[in-house]
Amino acid sequence: MIGNIDKKDKEWKIVMVQEKKKCPFCGNQAVLITCSGCNVEVCEACHHYELVGSGCGTVIPLFYCPKCAFDELINPNACLKDKEW
Ligand SMILES: [Zn+2]
Ligand SMILES: [Zn+2]
Repeated sequence: MIGNIDKKDKEWKIVMVQEKKKCPFCGNQAVLITCSGCNVEVCEACHHYELVGSGCGTVIPLFYCPKCAFDELINPNACLKDKEW
């Protein structure tokens, strides 16, 4: 499920051309995405893409760092996640 969503990110990456920076989570030089939870920058390999329903049928795509992805206070879907990613 998460793997399928990740493939779509390639389209997104083409639109958002950014310079590469060092990821604070894995240390790789990569195009970093800003975490929707804590605003820390996270690379494509480390980020978690999350679709969050906002109530009235609208689904908002969010990008989380590994820390926020499993924080139930930040990510409404954290409890649904398999922590063995
Ligand atoms: Zn990383
Ligand atoms: Zn975060």
